[in-house]
Amino acid sequence: MESVRVRFAPSPTGYLHVGGLRTALYNYLFARKANGKFILRIEDTDRNRFVEGAVENLIKALKWCGLDYDEGPDAGGQYGPYMQSQRLDIYQDHVKELISTGDAYYCFCTPERLNELKEEQQRQKLPQAKYDKHCLAISKNEIEHNFGADIPFVIRLNVKPNKRIIFDDIVRGRVEFESNNIDDQILIKSDGFPTYHLANVVDDHLMEISHVIRGEEWLSSTPKHVLLYDSFNWKRPLFAHLPLLLNPDRSKLSKRQGDVAVEDYRDKGFLKEALVNFVALLGWNAGDDKEFYYMNELVESFSLERVNKSGAVFDLEKLNWLNAEHLRKMQDTELLALLKEEILNSKFSNQNYSDSYLLEVITAMKERVSFVKDYLEKSPYFFEAPNNYDEAAVQKNWKAETPAMLLKLHDEFEKLVNPSKDDFENALAKVAEELNAGKGKLIHPLRLAVSGMSTGPGVFDIVLLLGKDEVLKRIKSAVQKIN
Ligand code: GLU
Repeated sequence: MESVRVRFAPSPTGYLHVGGLRTALYNYLFARKANGKFILRIEDTDRNRFVEGAVENLIKALKWCGLDYDEGPDAGGQYGPYMQSQRLDIYQDHVKELISTGDAYYCFCTPERLNELKEEQQRQKLPQAKYDKHCLAISKNEIEHNFGADIPFVIRLNVKPNKRIIFDDIVRGRVEFESNNIDDQILIKSDGFPTYHLANVVDDHLMEISHVIRGEEWLSSTPKHVLLYDSFNWKRPLFAHLPLLLNPDRSKLSKRQGDVAVEDYRDKGFLKEALVNFVALLGWNAGDDKEFYYMNELVESFSLERVNKSGAVFDLEKLNWLNAEHLRKMQDTELLALLKEEILNSKFSNQNYSDSYLLEVITAMKERVSFVKDYLEKSPYFFEAPNNYDEAAVQKNWKAETPAMLLKLHDEFEKLVNPSKDDFENALAKVAEELNAGKGKLIHPLRLAVSGMSTGPGVFDIVLLLGKDEVLKRIKSAVQKIN
């Protein structure tokens, strides 16, 4: 079998769209499974859409997701990615070949003429505006003359009428187009830059791309590409067009309905593992109900044959669920690294917590968090003494006699030497008994005093974790502050 070579070919817009991530991921999975190559090619031939730093951002986002590309031109010790803007001569050379065979031609029509043509076609209610091949008829002499006079020109594909263009799509099956519905596409623009169609086909051929895997929005371009392959006498790659991404209301996924940039999800604290897992399921399943996947399992299970035709709904709740699942199943040491990073970006950045302390926090909170930031947001008391105390819990559990009772507990705790969780628990039971009170009368206020909150891990787990000295301080301070 021919070796698998696939590519992700984004135009640099400034960020990585989740749809782009899905395309990149499917290409990556397909390549890895087949021991093939995954190539990154930046399609930056539209100079009007140049965005500073876009390529760097894109590569950063891909790398964050674990999608490493395999090759590219030498760029100072590192390779790649391929940049179309650095390959302009290649497209020029190739288009000349098409001119010589009559499959492409120079067009000197002015924007005014093209506009009139369009308006006329609209008046005639033609389904679609098409160039009328006016310049196909001009003589060699006229062309030379126009070059001499520096008249701006484009180069167009010469689409022959009355032809059926047929190709097999791995996802969609047989696809057919009528050449009469296809415009004489511009291949080289008046600035000398190639259009997407020409550059894409030339590169896919030269880079020996075996499978073109891309979003459905490119399906209508494919007949033009097929015509180009045929004109060049090149073998066509296999095509697989991935289903559209939809909002829950089944409209096309758009910025208006939520975040679409991978960077947004990263900044919101989603794990790359969860995002990759989620995006993999946007249009693909293994044929069972398995939803939780690690990257290596995706590589193992992925196939283009199991990609759906119908649009894939972007369901944020599922992403949230997957995030919590991935977080829960993560090794504590991995979590530790993430938590330390989160701390560095938080108001606790100048505090020093030992790894062993943070690992204990992780154990205490693991089942209660869905995001790494939850460690700080749901249990800030592990990182600093509470500044305020949950109002409702104070109302409910902080009675007139509470301060005195807590101070007694404080004194009992103070006597403990190197206390275990049981020691704290026994000390509290002893004080409760002496006061002839239910343990709850001490437990709830104790939780409030040490955490400021009314929920969380077991109160003795919190107390043990904070340590005796810190607990004593917090009891004192709560008695002073709450009244
Ligand atoms: N440059 C196109 C894009 O921005 C590439 C489409 C393709 O894969 O052919 O997605």
